[in-house]
Amino acid sequence: MNNLKFRLLIMVGFVLFSVVSYYMKTQVNPVTGEKQRVDLSPEQEVAMGLQSAPQMAAEFGGLYPDDRVQLKVRALGQKLVNSSELANSPYQFNFHVLADEQTINAFALPGGQIFITMALLKKLKTEDQVAGVLGHEMGHVINRHSSEQMAQSGLMNGIIQGVAMGSGSMSTAQIAGYLGNFLNMKYGRDDELESDAYGIRYMHKAGYDPHEMLKVMDILAEASGGSERDEFSSTHPSPENRAVKIKEEIAKLGL
Ligand SMILES: [Zn+2]
Repeated sequence: MNNLKFRLLIMVGFVLFSVVSYYMKTQVNPVTGEKQRVDLSPEQEVAMGLQSAPQMAAEFGGLYPDDRVQLKVRALGQKLVNSSELANSPYQFNFHVLADEQTINAFALPGGQIFITMALLKKLKTEDQVAGVLGHEMGHVINRHSSEQMAQSGLMNGIIQGVAMGSGSMSTAQIAGYLGNFLNMKYGRDDELESDAYGIRYMHKAGYDPHEMLKVMDILAEASGGSERDEFSSTHPSPENRAVKIKEEIAKLGL
């Protein structure tokens, strides 16, 4: 067997192995019923989120020191959880305000640890708007977006490795890596819109006005300087595009 054939065989082997192990990871989502490719059980997601929460908080200057603010946001988040199907989910929701007053951001760790920066909280004008942001993050948790991404990047790593070994050149691998990123990016955009849809529903169930989520989009658009962003290379759809989908979801509720 010549060298090239050998390399090709190894390459095909790696790629096949990656694809097969990826598709063997299928789990049924305990809340949405959707079939998903994930490595972690919901319990592992919860443990992972709890474990990395303090480190994540430290990245944003720690928790905001005023307990009254923390309690208010926690109560609001808990209201969203209690009025939805999430009260009986395997997920454990905690809501934290980060001390960072510069970075406008909110995010969720797998399993239910949800964070909002003081910078974003200060921009929000009503409780409904805060509920919209928290509900969106709950949507990421419940749809297991981070876990899906992790499983997916495992797949891409296998393929990249296979390509690198087979071709013996890094540039082909770099191209494969780029494609991997592209795949992830596409996921990211869909995930954002899906989380908006869930967030709208959670707001509505808890008695908040979903229209306020449109004002959150205005606030985010303004915060990004109103500049025309290169949407293709951005992991987040523009607030304008999100607003279109949000309006569709509000219409579905008959509001
Ligand atoms: Zn998001």
